[in-house]
Amino acid sequence: MRIAVVGGSLAGLHAAALLREADFEVDVYERSPAPLSGLGTGIVVQPELVRYLLERTPTTLEQISVSSDVMRYRRADSGVLQGEVPADWRFTSYNSLYQGLLSSFGRERYHCGRTLIGLDQNADRAELRFASGERVEADLVVCADGGFSTARQRLLGLQPEYAGYVTWRGVADRDKVSDETWAYFDEAFTYGLLDDGHLIAYPIPVTGADGSVTRGLNFQWYWNVDEGPALDELMTDVNGIRRPVSVHHAGLRSEVLAEFRQRAKEELIDPFAELVHAAAEPFVTVIADGDVPTMRVGRFVLIGDAAITPRPHAAAGAAKAAGDAWDLAAALTRSAADPWAGLSEWEERRLVVGRAYLEKVRRMGGVLQNGDLFAPGDPANRFGLADTGRP
Ligand code: FAD
Repeated sequence: MRIAVVGGSLAGLHAAALLREADFEVDVYERSPAPLSGLGTGIVVQPELVRYLLERTPTTLEQISVSSDVMRYRRADSGVLQGEVPADWRFTSYNSLYQGLLSSFGRERYHCGRTLIGLDQNADRAELRFASGERVEADLVVCADGGFSTARQRLLGLQPEYAGYVTWRGVADRDKVSDETWAYFDEAFTYGLLDDGHLIAYPIPVTGADGSVTRGLNFQWYWNVDEGPALDELMTDVNGIRRPVSVHHAGLRSEVLAEFRQRAKEELIDPFAELVHAAAEPFVTVIADGDVPTMRVGRFVLIGDAAITPRPHAAAGAAKAAGDAWDLAAALTRSAADPWAGLSEWEERRLVVGRAYLEKVRRMGGVLQNGDLFAPGDPANRFGLADTGRP
């Protein structure tokens, strides 16, 4: 069976590596012209997320993550500590995960600069068409092209819906913040609660150009922004183009960056404001989510954010993506005589996991963005996939 994977990020690379290991012929088609770097910032470690790297490569958890021992719930406008619970989460970075997965899969069959624009299928094969004009045929296509998946749009006519807020993200290096601010955030996961929106901050590993690993402070600041003119203006870049997903730092208009810094000064107390100001390259991303009625359409399967797209609040979207891939590889190898046989059960299992998680993060987002009670240590808000009551 020849398998094409569309999208070469966390879901796509997990699927590609695991399916190749199961002796399928696998190629990855990634839109980005060069290997990804800097996409996203910090990621909370969940078992599914690091399972491949720890079980299949020499990587150790200590190499790709830093630890924390407490979760703090503060008001970001006054600093008042509303609660503190022991929590031994580890934090990694998108880059550490991506680079580990890509070096394991290798570059030979990882094809950059391939933007999927069209697809078709018949009884014998699937066909993919790329913006470059190239066409590719495969027996099975794993669609891992993210939250705004072209494959899902073509197959199901669906896109995720705007959740009513955006997030600013950034990382501040150690030497860019004072000792007090560093101590305030280091070795902890900190919520900065507000009546209108919220922040989170935590340390992550930062890999230098020479490969050395230091710590940085990662933050996200979620702003409620009405859909329509306000959102359109915020998401319009220096070239006047309305960006659908993210405006990267280089594309931010100076007025938008000035508003971001001004709001930090006016609305946040100093450790939070200082952290936000110290980030070298802050950027803004819309938060959107959505369910799908199915994760399989004939010879196409959808995984990761290209299937059910969750909001980020329980820090397990990437773990869900990796879990989709692990389970898919197991399903396709269950019956050597008929690799397709396991797909229905795979889909059924993964829809249960994805929908339970979507419900959990929608509820958390509603509470966090509107200043409702986010009780310290409430198990309903614990990071991770939702408990589905299934093994
Ligand atoms: P993506 O990472 O979005 O990758 C999709 C890939 O497909 C990209 O490489 C893209 O270039 C490519 N692509 C897109 N369109 C095409 C096309 N037409 N043709 C070819 N290629 C294409 N998850 C966690 O587990 N923990 C966290 O702490 C966490 N924090 C988050 C914070 C924020 C603010 C956000 C927005 C998300 C967060 N997530 C977190 C979620 C996590 O980032 C996603 O769940 C995860 O990246 C999904 O991986 P994916 O491979 O499915 O999609």
